[in-house]
Amino acid sequence: MSEFMTQEGFSYAFDPSACAKCGGNCCTGESGNIFVSVTEIAAIAALLEMEEGEFRRTHLRKEGFRFSLQEKKVNGSYDCIFFNRSLNGCSIYTARPLQCRTFPFWDYFRHRIDELKAECPGIIHD
Ligand code: SF4
Ligand code: SF4
Repeated sequence: MSEFMTQEGFSYAFDPSACAKCGGNCCTGESGNIFVSVTEIAAIAALLEMEEGEFRRTHLRKEGFRFSLQEKKVNGSYDCIFFNRSLNGCSIYTARPLQCRTFPFWDYFRHRIDELKAECPGIIHD
């Protein structure tokens, strides 16, 4: 049985069971930024057993004063560099950034529910 997630201040719910069939819409598609903090960079580098400087050079890009995860172009889609299409999931799941952990409950989507529903089949909203 599905357990829907809700969050105070948001008028929709989220059904995590939708992820199994979705194909990772939130990790692929249009190009975008996936911001990572200094702490998150250290955690992901540690998970990958990489030296932090090397990890920054090979997996991150600078966006102003911040860092974003790089993307890779696959069949016209901009996939997050850590999205694994074979496994249909995130290859750094336990160390994924806060931006990923808090999706789909982002302030941006609070009043853009139609846009969110078009991206995420797990959204439940009347
Ligand atoms: S878009 Fe929604 S249903 Fe699809 S993987 Fe992301 S959170 Fe899951
Ligand atoms: S880090 Fe993982 S959860 Fe976040 S966008 Fe990349 S593949 Fe998706």
